[in-house]
Amino acid sequence: MATIVIHQIKDWRQLQLENKQKFADKTLGFVPTMGNLHDGHASLLKQSAAENQLTVLSIFVNPTQFDQAKDLEYYPKTLEQDLALAEKLNIDFVFVPTYTELYPDNYNYKISESILSKQFCGQHRPGHFDGMLTVVLKLLLIFRPNRAYFGEKDLQQLNLVQGMTKSFFVETDIIACPTIRDTNGLALSSRNHQLDPDEYELATQFATLLRTKLSDKDIHDSLEWLGFSVDYIQTQGDRRFGAVRIGKVRLIDNVQLLHKTTHHKEGTVA
Ligand code: AMP
Repeated sequence: MATIVIHQIKDWRQLQLENKQKFADKTLGFVPTMGNLHDGHASLLKQSAAENQLTVLSIFVNPTQFDQAKDLEYYPKTLEQDLALAEKLNIDFVFVPTYTELYPDNYNYKISESILSKQFCGQHRPGHFDGMLTVVLKLLLIFRPNRAYFGEKDLQQLNLVQGMTKSFFVETDIIACPTIRDTNGLALSSRNHQLDPDEYELATQFATLLRTKLSDKDIHDSLEWLGFSVDYIQTQGDRRFGAVRIGKVRLIDNVQLLHKTTHHKEGTVA
């Protein structure tokens, strides 16, 4: 079946009404993204397609989670290419809404978390996690999927979504998917596409240094010496988290530190 592209919530509802048979007793997997899809996104989509009978991909560059207007303006947008990938992966539905479709209230109502969302990236991107949680809850309520897939690359986001769904009794299982990396260790990211070749080369040092036995402070200092602007390098349990900027481009990552022995649960912060 060809991929069906939906722009409006009413079209999704209509589709379900007209195809009761097709949806009956079928499990639905959901993969929310901001587009400019790469192999990291593809791994989430493949896992959803393997574990569910139907899969919805959403593509929406969510303005409420951007704390800087320029960052939103420069965020890569490649819808045609993304739709071709969805088709190639046999994804059933792609939801591509407008801002007004998702925010009829113009972001008057929002979801906010008070502890974890203020740490790590939250300290450097005011309002970012409110915007992210709000859009994710809206999407989960629109599609009511059985499972929704999130990458461990954005581990703080994943943990906040897990906390939110638990707090609001949302009956969707939040599935954590491993970080997909380039052969040089750099985590795949849409933001990597904004780097020129020299900056890309530099970015690989970020992934390499995160895994070393150096202290957080020494890594911080080494990165600054290399030319990065560092938001934070922070180890919690056996996981090290980091966020850096190269020029206008902000990169985040987290790795498990194999040399650390701890009882900290894999893949969680807080
Ligand atoms: P984004 O489009 O960047 O908002 O990402 C959409 C989803 O893809 C999020 O759940 C991300 O964590 C996930 N994702 C992004 N990059 C990767 C990656 N390199 N490996 C695994 N998942 C990823």
